[in-house]
Amino acid sequence: MTTVLAVANQKGGVAKTTTVASLGAALVALGNKVLVVDLDPQGCLTFSLGHNPDRLEASVHEVLTGDLAAKDAVIPTEDGVDLLPATIDLAGAEALLLMRPGREFALKRALASLLDDYDTVIIDCPPSLGVLTLNGLTASQSVLVPLQCETLAHRGVGQLLRTVREVQQITNPDLVLLGALPTLYDARTTHSRDVLSDVSDRYDLPVLSPPIPRTVRFAEATASGATVLAGRKNKGAQAYRDLADNLAKHWAGSELVTFSTGSV
Ligand code: ADP
Ligand code: MG
Repeated sequence: MTTVLAVANQKGGVAKTTTVASLGAALVALGNKVLVVDLDPQGCLTFSLGHNPDRLEASVHEVLTGDLAAKDAVIPTEDGVDLLPATIDLAGAEALLLMRPGREFALKRALASLLDDYDTVIIDCPPSLGVLTLNGLTASQSVLVPLQCETLAHRGVGQLLRTVREVQQITNPDLVLLGALPTLYDARTTHSRDVLSDVSDRYDLPVLSPPIPRTVRFAEATASGATVLAGRKNKGAQAYRDLADNLAKHWAGSELVTFSTGSV
């Protein structure tokens, strides 16, 4: 069965897009067939996987409005994941979808015919809790929340969890909140760990293992049009490989490995 995972947090810069691209590439390396979906009008995922959003003929926008079959917009990438790309047109999709019945279901409907072709679909949600993110959450079985381990990281988490609960009540009763993924994590200081334990206690949120360390390799990768997994060996790429391993085993039936924040 295909697993559909949304990566969501309405805060920008918490490594949602990086997580979708790197986790996708790591799952491909484990032998999975993976589709990643760019739901952000900024098109950062599309760009970071080597495609220029300004030069694309077809994108997730036409798919959401029902003008194009999803399979006709999917393109291959160097990393081996297939991509349903975004262009700036997607900024107009919010308004178009708002006028339609069943607007939260547009992505779920569009992906249905593609699911058989993939083991895993990962959705990169935009930094908002608008109709696009609602589409991402409605189309998914589970949701992962990247969390940058800095002071005030918790701001907005409550609101996001409330949205997840509303989606569970209204459009997607089977949605599972997998947990928070610590990103830009600095193991050398206790600060990251303190922030993490505060957030996980406050919201009773599982913390996924392993945390993704902060490394300069990610900025280099984005500029190169391939993920960190394609470059030299580094601890960021290894963390995403370990996360892929953890999730793949979980989806095959094992208990999810969580990270102890050492709270007392
Ligand atoms: P979001 O999609 O949540 O807005 P991005 O994935 O675009 O976040 O990441 C924001 C910035 O942080 C990007 O410049 C990215 O290269 C950088 N980044 C992401 N993860 C890491 C990391 N582990 N270490 C260092 N920089 C990172
Ligand atoms: Mg992003």
